[in-house]
Amino acid sequence: MVRELTHFIGGRHVAGTSGRFGDVFNPTLGEVQARVPFASAEELARAVTAAKAAQADWAAQNPQKRARVLFAFKALVERHMDELARRLSLEHGKTLPDSKGDVMRGLEVVEFACGIPHLLKGEFTEGAGPGIDMFSMRQPLGVVAGITPFNFPAMIPMWMFGVAIACGNAFICKPSEKDPSVPLLLADLLSEAGLPPGVFSVVNGDKVAVDAILQHPDIKAVSFVGSSAIAHYVYAQGTAAGKRVQAMGGAKNHAIILPDADLDQVVDDLIGAGYGSAGERCMAIAVAVPVGEALGNELIRRLKPRVESLKVAPSLDPDANYGPLVTRAHRQKVIDYIAMGEKEGAEIIVDGRGFALQGYENGFFLGGTLFDKVGPGMQSYQDEIFGPVLQVARAANFEEALALPSQHQYGNGVAIYTRDGDAARDFASRVQVGMVGINVPIPVPLAYHSFGGWKRSAFGDVNQHGPEGVRFYTKIKTVTQRWPSKGGAREGSSFVIPTMK
Ligand code: NAD
Repeated sequence: MVRELTHFIGGRHVAGTSGRFGDVFNPTLGEVQARVPFASAEELARAVTAAKAAQADWAAQNPQKRARVLFAFKALVERHMDELARRLSLEHGKTLPDSKGDVMRGLEVVEFACGIPHLLKGEFTEGAGPGIDMFSMRQPLGVVAGITPFNFPAMIPMWMFGVAIACGNAFICKPSEKDPSVPLLLADLLSEAGLPPGVFSVVNGDKVAVDAILQHPDIKAVSFVGSSAIAHYVYAQGTAAGKRVQAMGGAKNHAIILPDADLDQVVDDLIGAGYGSAGERCMAIAVAVPVGEALGNELIRRLKPRVESLKVAPSLDPDANYGPLVTRAHRQKVIDYIAMGEKEGAEIIVDGRGFALQGYENGFFLGGTLFDKVGPGMQSYQDEIFGPVLQVARAANFEEALALPSQHQYGNGVAIYTRDGDAARDFASRVQVGMVGINVPIPVPLAYHSFGGWKRSAFGDVNQHGPEGVRFYTKIKTVTQRWPSKGGAREGSSFVIPTMK
């Protein structure tokens, strides 16, 4: 029996009315398990009306009261962790522990947002001039929207709405149509935590809903995470319509390995960060760059048996290293990239295409693939594959290794493995990438720092969450005040711009 999912508007679940739906798969079985309604522009407008009606009162609550709702929400998410993770695994395909990590990384942003009374304290200058004080405050934008990708259906909505609603905005979430159930459950938990109806909505849908968000005059800011072509589209359309936009895009993250690195650690990290979540992470390691011929040969020798012995299994199997890919179409896209790599002359060391799991023949599974001798001239190197595929691109020296991620179109994350502090410091300073790991494979900044890549990995100039998130979801107002003081002389009209004398 295929379930029919809903939108969440005005504090309650509502059925879709557009007559358009998308299939939500169980990727382990390869079967449709639910239908998600695709909103029309009218349905989106209804959510905006409800959000607008609720926002002013929400913003008028003192920040401590808003934080208390988030505290209650955090406790509820922890209580429902197993249910959230199970739902997530069954739609996305990632393993249960990885789904819990997805929820936890989002919850860490909610924990950060619980500090909103402190974060919203403005600045004050006493005596900026004679009898003059000056202060600045951060005010919410109003109604804001977030458009999220399939690969972190809990974390990425929480990156956005945790900070947005703490700041006093009303937030409309347009989740990925591939795995929309978790944001709907989060909506229930926010309501249970005491969030007034309308402050958080979920509008499901496809391009029609996204375009309606981009065109609606009452949506003041749009936060987007997804692939680069769409991120660029959202950025261009949203800013042309006068909105504030941050739009995170795709990635191709390199791990540079210098000859003095701890190779056991490197191999463990490449296997985890390359194949975890079937490589469907924007901070996955997609390219390993060993420096020097001998190191390259040794790395391949050690990686090969590890890739061959990866345990690919149903997402609820406790022994799974990773589960199926999200959809049949995405699996096919990854297979096509493997074929392209082979055709372009990369050496295929392990080929995951033949993988099949007895009893799950229709599931979207793919074994791990390992390529050697990949180079910048190859399309399969230039593009994001987003699957369980690790490409080894050998470099002759440090400068050649530094140039690879620096010259790549994407600049999300990068890692360097070395015991040489000077080399690591030099690399971190010069590499043209937004997030750098030193002996750390997935350098995702913690909630109280901010997340964002460079080049085609992010459009707009304000990062996600942390202090940058607070900046994104607020506008600054600066007040200059003078009170008539006893005995103070009036100065009369001045036709000259006031300056500090
Ligand atoms: P996607 O771009 O296909 O979808 C993202 C969102 O855009 C979804 O909500 C989707 O419904 C919407 N969308 C899809 N097609 C659209 C169109 N034509 N017009 C308007 N909206 C459209 O991305 P995905 O496949 O869900 O997610 C994977 C991608 O996200 C990868 O490229 C990955 O690197 C990227 N990602 C980036 C980050 C980051 O922070 N940089 C984080 C996670 C994922």
